[in-house]
Amino acid sequence: MPRVRVVVVGAGVVGLSTAVCIAEALPQCSVTVLADRFSPYTTSDIAAGIIMGGAPLPDIAVERQRRWFKDTFDHLLAIAQSKEASEAGVLLTSGWQVFREVPSERKPFWADDVLGFRLMTEAELRRFPQHKFGQALTTVKCECPFYLPWLEKRFKRAGGVLKHGHVADLLELCHGYDVVVNCSGLAARALAGDSEVQAVRGQILRVHAPWLKHFIRDSDGHTYIYPGRDSVTIGGTRQEGDWRLAVDPRDTEGILERCHQLEPSLHGSVHLGELVGLRPGRACPRLERALLETQGRRVPVVHNYGHGGWGVSFSWGTALEALQLKERGMKGQSGERMRVTWTLVDAEHIGEEVRQQSLQQEKHILQLLQHPHQQVVLQNVPLGPLQGPFTWLPVRHTQHKRVTDKVT
Ligand SMILES: Cc1cc2nc3c(=O)[nH]c(=O)nc-3n(C[C@H](O)[C@H](O)[C@H](O)COP(=O)(O)OP(=O)(O)OC[C@H]3O[C@@H](n4cnc5c(N)ncnc54)[C@H](O)[C@@H]3O)c2cc1C
Repeated sequence: MPRVRVVVVGAGVVGLSTAVCIAEALPQCSVTVLADRFSPYTTSDIAAGIIMGGAPLPDIAVERQRRWFKDTFDHLLAIAQSKEASEAGVLLTSGWQVFREVPSERKPFWADDVLGFRLMTEAELRRFPQHKFGQALTTVKCECPFYLPWLEKRFKRAGGVLKHGHVADLLELCHGYDVVVNCSGLAARALAGDSEVQAVRGQILRVHAPWLKHFIRDSDGHTYIYPGRDSVTIGGTRQEGDWRLAVDPRDTEGILERCHQLEPSLHGSVHLGELVGLRPGRACPRLERALLETQGRRVPVVHNYGHGGWGVSFSWGTALEALQLKERGMKGQSGERMRVTWTLVDAEHIGEEVRQQSLQQEKHILQLLQHPHQQVVLQNVPLGPLQGPFTWLPVRHTQHKRVTDKVT
């Protein structure tokens, strides 16, 4: 059977996460990432990279947002606790989010998904005299200038191809590919004709201040201090409808003044650089399937863009959902269903990488099974944990079989 040709437009954190999920879960597809900018030149590379959420997004069920967040957090936490953490630029970080007024929701929807969420004590709040309320937590910082190249490597290992190129119109992809996945971020305004997408300008500074170990975030999202792998990111600005990419010295001044107030020791830091990025602002991300039609050919397109100020925090979760949407598109096209076989292997002789991949695949299958439209046939499912050096690996023998065939 010819391989299904998938093209993912975009090599930011959303595009690469989606491409990795598809390439690893569906080895019968050939997956290409097509983008006019790769790391370190994407908006994702500018992101401060803290994994948190804001207030719930409008028009999207909170459970769905929570799944996006939790899937991303769990995925990144596993990397932060692995030997890959430093190379991937994914690390655990603890700190405070402080509020000038007590918020109506004292515990955000993602509170149970991060580690050790609690309200700050009075003693902790004393160092923030302008703030009345605070939350303490341990989360992950995901530094895209390291994480994106790491994802690129993982994608290539799964057989994916990276291609440099500009797409003027998604329709031009209909003749070379069977499925299009649109992860073009802010550019979706033009590519998907979506005027809801708006630039939200953000300026940040990177400084050298290795003594800082705790993050501090003012809840309004304008001021933050996030210690990272080699530097501290301090910010920021949120300027809606502002498309300027040049550094604004007045913004630099404002950022320094606000951050010095929150963390006076920053006066001794060394300035490393300033960066500007345009967040792909939208009331909420667009994650849905549609159809491209040109010259008698109909090609499914999965849109996955518009993540605003939380694209890193939702990246893996929305990628997994895009994968499900894509699979539904493929089934409609080729009438396949999936057969998943569990295989008994000697646990001592599988590497950590295979084990991690299998865990991801198992999680993915469980998600597919929860979906009413998925046709998944399971074989040899283990009945319980085994004693001794053996373990079960799922999906290593995943096969796709046409619906018309009899699946035994
Ligand atoms: C200052 C700042 C701080 C931030 N801090 C955080 C944070 O702490 N936590 C968090 O979760 N998020 C944060 N964000 C938000 C986050 O950066 C974005 O939500 C995220 O990067 C969006 O990723 P993306 O992959 O959709 O878009 P992008 O990274 O912009 O990638 C878009 C891709 O599409 C490609 N593309 C676009 N148009 C075309 C075309 N026509 N042809 C070919 N390729 C095309 C581009 O080349 C690029 O590869 C921050 C953002 C900014 C600016």
